Amino acid sequence: RDLFVSLHPRSGALASAAGQHLLSGVPMPWMTRWPGAHPVFFEQAEGARFVDADGIEYVDFCLGDTGAMTGHGLVGVADALRDRAVRGITTMLPSDDAIWVRDRAVRGITTMLPSDDAIWVAGELTARFGLPKWQFAMTATDANRFVLRFARALTGRPKVAVIDWCYHGTVDETLAVLEGDRVVSRPGAVGPAFDPALTTRVVPFNDVEALDAALSHGDVACLLMEPALTNIGIVLPEAGYMEAVREVTRRHGVLLVIDETHTICAGPGGCTAAWGLEPDFFVIGKPIAGGMPAAVYGMTSEVASHLETLMAGHSVDVSGVGGTLTGNALAMAAIRATLSTTLREEDFARMLPLATAWTDGVRDAYTARGLPWHVQQLGCRAEYWFCPPPRNGADAAAAGDPELDSYMHLFALNRGILLTPFHNMALFSPFHTMADVDRHTEVFAAALDSLLVP
Ligand code: PMP
Repeated sequence: RDLFVSLHPRSGALASAAGQHLLSGVPMPWMTRWPGAHPVFFEQAEGARFVDADGIEYVDFCLGDTGAMTGHGLVGVADALRDRAVRGITTMLPSDDAIWVRDRAVRGITTMLPSDDAIWVAGELTARFGLPKWQFAMTATDANRFVLRFARALTGRPKVAVIDWCYHGTVDETLAVLEGDRVVSRPGAVGPAFDPALTTRVVPFNDVEALDAALSHGDVACLLMEPALTNIGIVLPEAGYMEAVREVTRRHGVLLVIDETHTICAGPGGCTAAWGLEPDFFVIGKPIAGGMPAAVYGMTSEVASHLETLMAGHSVDVSGVGGTLTGNALAMAAIRATLSTTLREEDFARMLPLATAWTDGVRDAYTARGLPWHVQQLGCRAEYWFCPPPRNGADAAAAGDPELDSYMHLFALNRGILLTPFHNMALFSPFHTMADVDRHTEVFAAALDSLLVP
């Protein structure tokens, strides 16, 4: 901690100044969740690196907790944003897609009218994720909220089901966990809007029987889940679990919503494409617009045709779905630029070997020191545990060791490596290098040695 303070005089001064008019000295509560006396203020970020206010360069394995999984400061996205906002010349159009080549300047940020980028984007989303119809949102939180509303409207059922210790954004119904058999508000969720037992059924991950029992009440509209838990550390589905989830949800007439905001790390089509999942709704936010706030959700033809009928009715007024800035032209341009220049097969071909090498480096280091730790990889995301791999969210939550997390994170940060603050996760962009991986392995091993000093 002393080393951190001595390395960051300028960030320290900025943190003091920020305390004057910003709540807790930050624009958003999670920004207090870093190790060290105060957050590091950043000055510039590019690719897999950023430079802080004290001029120190870091390898960024957090990547804005997935918002910048494409790498920071993408030229394609910046160009598209500038073109859309200012210049009125679009450079992002694929040359073989002549039908959409514009012969006139298009500019403007928000009009509440559609722009043609949305057509290209929806087509690309279908090609990647398989679902035929798409809508937009500002954040993954928003997208999940909208999907829950639609699912209740379609099924006429009041409740939603989620996985114990899931995270899907600041969505009231999902901030719920199991306490024994009871559904209670998630510890640490501030000012719950209502008792989540009224709205939510919670089931442990990797437990098909519990899911079957929860859905058999006949009051659940949808199951919202990640195909692998990523927000309580990586917990992978056991063999056959996702197939069983689909069978059980279908049997009970429950819509399956797959949230791939983080599990896009599995490949260009997320786990949905990689594992052949068949969701009724599909959600992804964060990296989809290269760091710009935007999210998308897709649906099957069957869901879409019911929703089109429902939304066309004169009785549907504000609907509770959407927002004035949702689907704005800047967001559409950013998604188009992102999907046409990143998160492609060739990008994953760069990211995956890096994640595997990071995983191997971590495993070798703790194994050589006789520690019963574990490291888990899902595509270009990897994470270590201080214990054998947990099977579900409750085991994962119980396995946490905040003091040890903090030690490992601060040890790394003081040596120019940023990990994701909430757990011991590293994410890879196409801009990371094997030298970055080796540096992490070296620092990780040194952290272990410092802990194991008799
Ligand atoms: N879904 C998942 C799986 C997430 O991990 C998160 C954020 N960690 C969200 C949704 C919400 O994203 P946002 O905070 O950008 O709304």
